[in-house]
Amino acid sequence: LKLDKFERYPLTFGPTPIEKLDRLSAELGGGVEIYAKRDDCNSGLAFGGNKLRKLEYIVPDVLASGADTLVSIGGVQSNHTRMVAATAAKLGLKCVVVQESWVPHEDAVYDRVGNILLTRLMGADSRIVDDGFDIGIRKSWEDALQSVKDAGGKPYGIPAGASVHPYGGLGYVRFAEEVRAQEAEMGIRFDYIIVCVVTGSTQAGMIVGFAADGRADRVIGIDASGTPEQTRAQVREIVDRTADLVELGRPVREDEIVIVEDYAYPAYGVPSAETNEAIRMAARTEAMITDPVYEGKSMQGMIDLIRKGKIPAGSKVLYAHLGGAPAINGYSYTYRNG
Ligand code: PLP
Repeated sequence: LKLDKFERYPLTFGPTPIEKLDRLSAELGGGVEIYAKRDDCNSGLAFGGNKLRKLEYIVPDVLASGADTLVSIGGVQSNHTRMVAATAAKLGLKCVVVQESWVPHEDAVYDRVGNILLTRLMGADSRIVDDGFDIGIRKSWEDALQSVKDAGGKPYGIPAGASVHPYGGLGYVRFAEEVRAQEAEMGIRFDYIIVCVVTGSTQAGMIVGFAADGRADRVIGIDASGTPEQTRAQVREIVDRTADLVELGRPVREDEIVIVEDYAYPAYGVPSAETNEAIRMAARTEAMITDPVYEGKSMQGMIDLIRKGKIPAGSKVLYAHLGGAPAINGYSYTYRNG
Protein backbone atom coordinates (compact mmCIF):
# COMPACT_ATOMS: atom_id res chain seq x y z
CA LEU A 1 0.00 0.00 0.00
CA LYS A 2 1.23 3.46 -0.90
CA LEU A 3 1.09 5.07 2.52
CA ASP A 4 4.53 6.61 2.62
CA LYS A 5 3.66 9.23 0.01
CA PHE A 6 1.52 10.95 2.66
CA GLU A 7 3.22 13.20 5.13
CA ARG A 8 2.72 12.25 8.79
CA TYR A 9 3.20 14.55 11.75
CA PRO A 10 4.00 12.41 14.78
CA LEU A 11 1.61 12.81 17.70
CA THR A 12 2.00 9.28 19.07
CA PHE A 13 4.85 7.41 20.78
CA GLY A 14 5.20 4.96 17.88
CA PRO A 15 3.84 1.44 17.35
CA THR A 16 1.45 0.50 20.16
CA PRO A 17 2.00 -2.65 22.20
CA ILE A 18 0.06 -5.86 21.65
CA GLU A 19 -0.77 -7.43 24.99
CA LYS A 20 -1.99 -10.97 25.57
CA LEU A 21 -5.07 -11.09 27.79
CA ASP A 22 -4.69 -14.49 29.46
CA ARG A 23 -7.09 -13.95 32.32
CA LEU A 24 -9.87 -12.60 30.12
CA SER A 25 -9.30 -15.48 27.67
CA ALA A 26 -9.55 -17.97 30.56
CA GLU A 27 -12.70 -16.29 31.89
CA LEU A 28 -14.32 -17.00 28.52
CA GLY A 29 -13.41 -20.68 28.54
CA GLY A 30 -9.85 -20.50 27.26
CA GLY A 31 -10.67 -21.70 23.74
CA VAL A 32 -9.98 -18.34 22.12
CA GLU A 33 -6.74 -16.42 22.62
CA ILE A 34 -7.47 -12.74 23.14
CA TYR A 35 -4.92 -10.01 22.58
CA ALA A 36 -5.34 -6.25 22.80
CA LYS A 37 -3.62 -3.63 20.71
CA ARG A 38 -3.28 -0.72 23.08
CA ASP A 39 -4.05 2.35 21.02
CA ASP A 40 -5.47 3.73 24.27
CA CYS A 41 -1.84 4.11 25.39
CA ASN A 42 -0.53 5.54 22.13
CA SER A 43 0.53 9.01 23.25
CA GLY A 44 1.37 11.34 26.07
CA LEU A 45 -1.07 13.91 24.70
CA ALA A 46 -4.02 14.06 27.09
CA PHE A 47 -4.34 10.26 27.45
CA GLY A 48 -4.22 9.56 23.72
CA GLY A 49 -6.55 7.37 21.66
CA ASN A 50 -7.52 6.50 18.11
CA LYS A 51 -8.05 10.08 16.93
CA LEU A 52 -4.35 10.85 17.21
CA ARG A 53 -3.50 8.20 14.63
CA LYS A 54 -5.95 9.86 12.25
CA LEU A 55 -4.79 13.38 13.09
CA GLU A 56 -1.16 12.50 12.32
CA TYR A 57 -2.12 12.48 8.63
CA ILE A 58 -4.29 15.60 8.88
CA VAL A 59 -1.85 17.90 10.70
CA PRO A 60 0.47 18.41 7.68
CA ASP A 61 -2.55 19.77 5.79
CA VAL A 62 -3.44 22.00 8.77
CA LEU A 63 0.08 23.43 8.83
CA ALA A 64 0.11 23.93 5.05
CA SER A 65 -3.20 25.80 5.23
CA GLY A 66 -1.84 28.49 7.53
CA ALA A 67 -4.85 28.12 9.82
CA ASP A 68 -4.64 29.49 13.36
CA THR A 69 -7.64 27.71 14.87
CA LEU A 70 -8.79 24.08 14.80
CA VAL A 71 -12.57 23.73 14.82
CA SER A 72 -14.30 20.46 15.54
CA ILE A 73 -17.41 18.82 16.92
CA GLY A 74 -18.54 15.93 19.06
CA GLY A 75 -20.65 15.07 22.07
CA VAL A 76 -20.19 16.55 25.54
CA GLN A 77 -17.97 13.60 26.51
CA SER A 78 -16.28 13.44 23.10
CA ASN A 79 -12.84 11.83 23.01
CA HIS A 80 -12.38 13.32 19.58
CA THR A 81 -12.75 16.94 20.71
CA ARG A 82 -10.31 16.19 23.56
CA MET A 83 -7.80 14.95 20.99
CA VAL A 84 -8.32 17.95 18.70
CA ALA A 85 -7.82 20.26 21.71
CA ALA A 86 -4.63 18.34 22.57
CA THR A 87 -3.33 18.61 19.01
CA ALA A 88 -4.05 22.35 18.94
CA ALA A 89 -2.24 22.83 22.26
CA LYS A 90 0.76 20.85 21.03
CA LEU A 91 0.91 22.84 17.78
CA GLY A 92 0.34 26.20 19.45
CA LEU A 93 -2.97 26.77 17.66
CA LYS A 94 -6.30 27.95 19.03
CA CYS A 95 -9.20 25.54 19.25
CA VAL A 96 -12.99 25.80 19.16
CA VAL A 97 -15.02 22.65 19.80
CA VAL A 98 -18.78 22.34 19.58
CA GLN A 99 -20.07 19.79 22.09
CA GLU A 100 -23.53 18.52 21.28
CA SER A 101 -25.93 16.87 23.68
CA TRP A 102 -25.54 13.40 22.17
CA VAL A 103 -26.29 11.45 25.32
CA PRO A 104 -29.13 11.67 27.81
CA HIS A 105 -27.51 11.58 31.22
CA GLU A 106 -28.33 11.67 34.89
CA ASP A 107 -24.87 12.12 36.34
CA ALA A 108 -24.53 15.47 38.10
CA VAL A 109 -20.95 15.89 36.91
CA TYR A 110 -21.40 14.56 33.35
CA ASP A 111 -20.70 17.91 31.66
CA ARG A 112 -17.81 18.85 33.94
CA VAL A 113 -15.50 15.84 34.27
CA GLY A 114 -13.59 13.47 32.02
CA ASN A 115 -13.11 14.55 28.42
CA ILE A 116 -14.70 17.96 28.71
CA LEU A 117 -12.64 18.81 31.78
CA LEU A 118 -9.44 17.92 29.94
CA THR A 119 -10.58 19.83 26.86
CA ARG A 120 -11.16 22.96 28.89
CA LEU A 121 -7.87 22.52 30.73
CA MET A 122 -5.99 22.53 27.43
CA GLY A 123 -7.42 25.92 26.60
CA ALA A 124 -10.00 25.00 24.00
CA ASP A 125 -13.11 27.12 23.65
CA SER A 126 -15.69 24.42 24.37
CA ARG A 127 -19.25 25.34 23.37
CA ILE A 128 -22.09 23.14 24.56
CA VAL A 129 -25.15 23.13 22.26
CA ASP A 130 -28.50 21.33 22.42
CA ASP A 131 -28.38 19.29 19.17
CA GLY A 132 -28.75 15.51 19.49
CA PHE A 133 -26.65 12.62 18.11
CA ASP A 134 -25.70 12.72 14.43
CA ILE A 135 -22.40 11.74 12.81
CA GLY A 136 -22.89 14.03 9.81
CA ILE A 137 -21.89 17.65 9.12
CA ARG A 138 -23.85 19.95 11.40
CA LYS A 139 -25.01 23.55 11.30
CA SER A 140 -23.50 24.20 14.73
CA TRP A 141 -20.12 23.28 13.24
CA GLU A 142 -20.59 25.62 10.28
CA ASP A 143 -21.56 28.34 12.79
CA ALA A 144 -18.38 27.73 14.80
CA LEU A 145 -16.25 27.99 11.62
CA GLN A 146 -18.00 31.25 10.74
CA SER A 147 -17.51 32.65 14.24
CA VAL A 148 -13.73 32.17 13.93
CA LYS A 149 -13.75 33.97 10.56
CA ASP A 150 -15.89 36.78 11.96
CA ALA A 151 -13.30 37.28 14.69
CA GLY A 152 -10.56 37.62 12.05
CA GLY A 153 -9.14 34.12 12.52
CA LYS A 154 -8.40 31.36 10.02
CA PRO A 155 -10.21 28.16 10.96
CA TYR A 156 -9.38 24.60 9.92
CA GLY A 157 -12.42 22.35 10.21
CA ILE A 158 -12.05 18.76 11.36
CA PRO A 159 -15.33 16.81 11.10
CA ALA A 160 -16.70 14.55 13.85
CA GLY A 161 -14.29 11.73 14.58
CA ALA A 162 -11.91 13.12 11.91
CA SER A 163 -13.71 10.65 9.68
CA VAL A 164 -14.99 12.35 6.54
CA HIS A 165 -11.79 14.38 6.18
CA PRO A 166 -10.12 13.23 2.92
CA TYR A 167 -7.17 11.78 4.89
CA GLY A 168 -9.27 10.47 7.82
CA GLY A 169 -8.78 6.81 6.90
CA LEU A 170 -5.00 6.78 6.50
CA GLY A 171 -4.08 6.44 10.18
CA TYR A 172 -5.75 3.05 10.47
CA VAL A 173 -4.26 1.79 7.23
CA ARG A 174 -1.02 2.35 9.10
CA PHE A 175 -2.43 0.39 12.05
CA ALA A 176 -2.88 -2.63 9.77
CA GLU A 177 0.68 -2.30 8.46
CA GLU A 178 1.88 -2.11 12.05
CA VAL A 179 -0.06 -5.22 13.07
CA ARG A 180 1.40 -7.16 10.13
CA ALA A 181 4.92 -6.24 11.25
CA GLN A 182 4.14 -7.21 14.85
CA GLU A 183 2.61 -10.50 13.73
CA ALA A 184 5.81 -11.32 11.86
CA GLU A 185 7.84 -10.55 14.98
CA MET A 186 5.54 -12.56 17.26
CA GLY A 187 5.23 -15.45 14.81
CA ILE A 188 1.42 -15.43 14.90
CA ARG A 189 -1.46 -14.28 12.73
CA PHE A 190 -4.73 -12.92 14.03
CA ASP A 191 -7.94 -14.51 12.79
CA TYR A 192 -10.18 -11.63 13.83
CA ILE A 193 -9.79 -7.98 14.68
CA ILE A 194 -12.52 -6.44 16.85
CA VAL A 195 -13.10 -2.72 16.53
CA CYS A 196 -15.72 -0.29 17.77
CA VAL A 197 -17.32 1.74 14.95
CA VAL A 198 -19.25 5.03 15.06
CA THR A 199 -18.03 7.72 12.66
CA GLY A 200 -16.29 5.07 10.58
CA SER A 201 -12.73 5.98 9.68
CA THR A 202 -11.07 3.69 12.21
CA GLN A 203 -12.68 0.56 10.81
CA ALA A 204 -12.56 1.86 7.24
CA GLY A 205 -8.80 2.38 7.46
CA MET A 206 -8.36 -1.11 8.91
CA ILE A 207 -10.52 -2.65 6.17
CA VAL A 208 -8.34 -1.12 3.48
CA GLY A 209 -5.18 -2.01 5.38
CA PHE A 210 -6.17 -5.63 5.91
CA ALA A 211 -7.66 -5.96 2.40
CA ALA A 212 -4.04 -5.95 1.27
CA ASP A 213 -3.61 -9.46 2.70
CA GLY A 214 -7.17 -10.67 2.16
CA ARG A 215 -8.35 -10.18 5.75
CA ALA A 216 -10.72 -7.19 5.40
CA ASP A 217 -13.72 -9.34 6.33
CA ARG A 218 -11.95 -10.41 9.52
CA VAL A 219 -12.19 -6.85 10.80
CA ILE A 220 -15.38 -7.08 12.84
CA GLY A 221 -16.89 -3.66 13.46
CA ILE A 222 -19.06 -3.48 16.55
CA ASP A 223 -21.50 -0.63 16.03
CA ALA A 224 -21.86 1.71 18.99
CA SER A 225 -23.75 4.45 17.12
CA GLY A 226 -27.22 2.93 17.21
CA THR A 227 -27.61 4.42 13.70
CA PRO A 228 -25.89 1.60 11.81
CA GLU A 229 -27.18 2.46 8.33
CA GLN A 230 -25.59 5.88 8.47
CA THR A 231 -22.41 4.45 9.97
CA ARG A 232 -22.20 1.74 7.32
CA ALA A 233 -22.69 4.27 4.52
CA GLN A 234 -19.94 6.41 5.98
CA VAL A 235 -17.57 3.42 6.33
CA ARG A 236 -18.26 2.51 2.68
CA GLU A 237 -17.46 6.03 1.53
CA ILE A 238 -14.23 6.23 3.56
CA VAL A 239 -13.14 2.75 2.43
CA ASP A 240 -13.49 3.79 -1.22
CA ARG A 241 -11.71 7.09 -0.79
CA THR A 242 -8.90 5.58 1.26
CA ALA A 243 -8.46 2.59 -1.07
CA ASP A 244 -7.95 5.07 -3.93
CA LEU A 245 -5.45 7.13 -1.94
CA VAL A 246 -3.22 4.20 -1.00
CA GLU A 247 -3.74 2.49 -4.37
CA LEU A 248 -5.18 -0.78 -3.10
CA GLY A 249 -5.71 -1.65 -6.77
CA ARG A 250 -9.14 -3.20 -6.47
CA PRO A 251 -12.55 -2.21 -5.14
CA VAL A 252 -13.45 -3.45 -1.65
CA ARG A 253 -16.50 -5.72 -1.87
CA GLU A 254 -19.62 -5.05 0.21
CA ASP A 255 -19.17 -8.40 2.03
CA GLU A 256 -15.72 -7.28 3.17
CA ILE A 257 -17.33 -4.58 5.29
CA VAL A 258 -18.53 -6.38 8.40
CA ILE A 259 -20.48 -4.38 10.99
CA VAL A 260 -22.38 -6.11 13.78
CA GLU A 261 -25.36 -4.05 14.91
CA ASP A 262 -26.40 -6.09 17.95
CA TYR A 263 -24.65 -4.31 20.80
CA ALA A 264 -25.39 -0.59 20.48
CA TYR A 265 -28.63 -0.88 22.44
CA PRO A 266 -30.23 0.86 24.24
CA ALA A 267 -28.65 3.93 22.55
CA TYR A 268 -25.41 5.70 21.71
CA GLY A 269 -23.63 6.57 24.94
CA VAL A 270 -25.95 4.51 27.12
CA PRO A 271 -24.55 1.21 28.42
CA SER A 272 -26.77 -1.87 28.70
CA ALA A 273 -26.49 -4.34 31.60
CA GLU A 274 -24.37 -6.47 29.25
CA THR A 275 -22.10 -3.53 28.42
CA ASN A 276 -21.52 -2.99 32.11
CA GLU A 277 -20.82 -6.68 32.67
CA ALA A 278 -18.20 -6.51 29.90
CA ILE A 279 -16.61 -3.37 31.33
CA ARG A 280 -16.37 -4.98 34.76
CA MET A 281 -15.00 -8.23 33.35
CA ALA A 282 -12.17 -6.49 31.45
CA ALA A 283 -11.39 -4.36 34.50
CA ARG A 284 -11.40 -7.23 36.99
CA THR A 285 -9.47 -9.74 34.91
CA GLU A 286 -6.99 -7.49 33.13
CA ALA A 287 -7.17 -4.04 34.77
CA MET A 288 -8.04 -2.90 31.26
CA ILE A 289 -10.40 0.04 31.45
CA THR A 290 -13.10 0.38 28.82
CA ASP A 291 -15.82 3.03 28.66
CA PRO A 292 -19.62 2.84 28.42
CA VAL A 293 -19.81 4.65 25.06
CA TYR A 294 -17.33 2.85 22.81
CA GLU A 295 -14.92 0.21 24.00
CA GLY A 296 -17.38 -1.19 26.53
CA LYS A 297 -19.68 -2.01 23.62
CA SER A 298 -16.97 -3.58 21.48
CA MET A 299 -15.81 -5.54 24.55
CA GLN A 300 -19.40 -6.69 25.04
CA GLY A 301 -19.60 -7.69 21.39
CA MET A 302 -16.35 -9.64 21.49
CA ILE A 303 -17.36 -11.49 24.65
CA ASP A 304 -20.75 -12.39 23.20
CA LEU A 305 -19.32 -13.56 19.86
CA ILE A 306 -16.86 -15.79 21.73
CA ARG A 307 -19.52 -17.16 24.08
CA LYS A 308 -21.80 -17.99 21.15
CA GLY A 309 -18.99 -19.69 19.25
CA LYS A 310 -19.26 -17.22 16.36
CA ILE A 311 -15.60 -16.63 17.03
CA PRO A 312 -14.66 -20.31 17.17
CA ALA A 313 -12.31 -22.01 19.62
CA GLY A 314 -8.76 -22.03 18.34
CA SER A 315 -9.01 -18.45 17.06
CA LYS A 316 -6.64 -15.63 17.89
CA VAL A 317 -8.48 -12.37 18.34
CA LEU A 318 -7.02 -8.88 18.38
CA TYR A 319 -9.15 -6.42 20.32
CA ALA A 320 -8.34 -2.90 19.15
CA HIS A 321 -8.50 -0.75 22.26
CA LEU A 322 -9.10 2.73 20.85
CA GLY A 323 -9.08 4.72 24.10
CA GLY A 324 -11.98 6.61 25.60
CA ALA A 325 -11.52 5.79 29.29
CA PRO A 326 -11.84 9.43 30.49
CA ALA A 327 -15.58 9.36 29.69
CA ILE A 328 -16.16 6.87 32.49
CA ASN A 329 -15.92 9.74 34.96
CA GLY A 330 -19.26 10.98 33.63
CA TYR A 331 -20.89 7.68 34.66
CA SER A 332 -20.17 7.75 38.38
CA TYR A 333 -23.75 6.84 39.30
CA THR A 334 -23.66 3.73 37.12
CA TYR A 335 -20.59 2.32 38.84
CA ARG A 336 -20.98 3.71 42.34
CA ASN A 337 -21.13 0.17 43.73
CA GLY A 338 -18.31 -1.17 41.57
N1 PLP B 1 -13.55 4.24 20.41
C1 PLP B 1 -13.33 5.46 20.94
C2 PLP B 1 -12.71 5.55 22.29
C3 PLP B 1 -13.70 6.61 20.23
O1 PLP B 1 -13.48 7.82 20.77
C4 PLP B 1 -14.31 6.47 18.97
C5 PLP B 1 -14.76 7.69 18.25
O2 PLP B 1 -15.84 7.82 17.73
C6 PLP B 1 -14.51 5.18 18.45
C7 PLP B 1 -14.12 4.10 19.21
C8 PLP B 1 -15.13 4.93 17.11
O3 PLP B 1 -14.24 5.25 16.08
P1 PLP B 1 -14.77 5.87 14.72
O4 PLP B 1 -15.51 7.13 15.08
O5 PLP B 1 -13.57 6.09 13.89
O6 PLP B 1 -15.71 4.89 14.12
